[in-house]
Amino acid sequence: MTALEKEAFRAAAVWMEEAGMKTHIDNFGNLIGRLDGQDPALPVLMIGSHLDSQPYGGRFDGVAGVLCAIEAVKAFTEQGMVSQRSIEVVSFADEEGWRFTKGLFGSRGILGKLEPGELQRTDKDGITREKALIDFGCDPVKFKESEYKPGSIFCFLELHIEQGPILDIANKPIGVVSGISGPLWLTVKLKGMAGHTGSVPMHLRKDALLGAAEIIVAVNEIATQVPGNPTVGTVATINVFPASRNIIAEECVFTVDLRDIDLERRNKYEKQLRERIEAITKKHQLSYEITEDTNSEPRYCANWIKEIIHNECKALNLDAPELMSGPFHDALALSYACDYGMIFVRCKDGISHNPLEYASYEDLSLGAEVLLGTICKVLKV
Ligand SMILES: [Zn+2]
Repeated sequence: MTALEKEAFRAAAVWMEEAGMKTHIDNFGNLIGRLDGQDPALPVLMIGSHLDSQPYGGRFDGVAGVLCAIEAVKAFTEQGMVSQRSIEVVSFADEEGWRFTKGLFGSRGILGKLEPGELQRTDKDGITREKALIDFGCDPVKFKESEYKPGSIFCFLELHIEQGPILDIANKPIGVVSGISGPLWLTVKLKGMAGHTGSVPMHLRKDALLGAAEIIVAVNEIATQVPGNPTVGTVATINVFPASRNIIAEECVFTVDLRDIDLERRNKYEKQLRERIEAITKKHQLSYEITEDTNSEPRYCANWIKEIIHNECKALNLDAPELMSGPFHDALALSYACDYGMIFVRCKDGISHNPLEYASYEDLSLGAEVLLGTICKVLKV
């Protein structure tokens, strides 16, 4: 939700229009291209992903899904195909959540799933989400107008780079997604006592950063307790106050990201983590506060769509494995409103959220072809 994203929207909107779609930006900041069907009243086939990225992101995460969807619709119209149902290609606003530390903004927005207080979340410069939306040209007062009524989306398709190494290691260009493992995002705030690093004896300290360090190690130990399990746990941001080399850290705020395809196991690990935080903060005489920012359960793709994608892969002589998605996607939000399916495209060495991220144009064009075939089967044309 920045001027840069707007620029990307402008470029994508031109391509959408070239593909025969009408475009607009809704009040959540989503770019929507619509190809009217013969019966515009029917629930739409929605295809989409996102054009926003991460501060240290690559060029394919999200972008591949939006551009392949536009390409597929372009091929659809160029081949003179028509359908009863309308098609909408959406570039969802702020999927990544880096700026306001809460993602899937646009895709939750259109489903009326924003949470109380979300507009008051601030970025690191103190700018609220509300202000960012208004600056983007949206009107938060008119959110309702941009929501989709229950039943108005027939199903949702998303193509995305895998963002992991499984397809690359298996040497397969395309994968069929079975489901998305839901993330648990926590923010942990530890409070100790500032003091001079030269004078406060070790046993009298209330060092918030030391507590944070032990908790970070605990997150890693919890996530790796059963080798080979798909559980992943990460602490990737930390703020220290007052952050001076000769003042004992008084306050530490860090984020925890815990994911698993097995919700029961994830819940068990969350409980373990909370117990470790309790014990570690007690040991260092710290007080703590845990805020839950996101708590999503694993969501599985619709069997009938998976079957269509598998068949389209077979028709192209692709031996496409089925795999879970560790990262979440806009499809996660849409899964609560309709059936969904996802196509994964191999990414080099599994590298993502890194400028080195790469998917070959050959693989992407195969993905777009599978997507087009899937669109046709879903629309029965
Ligand atoms: Zn993405």
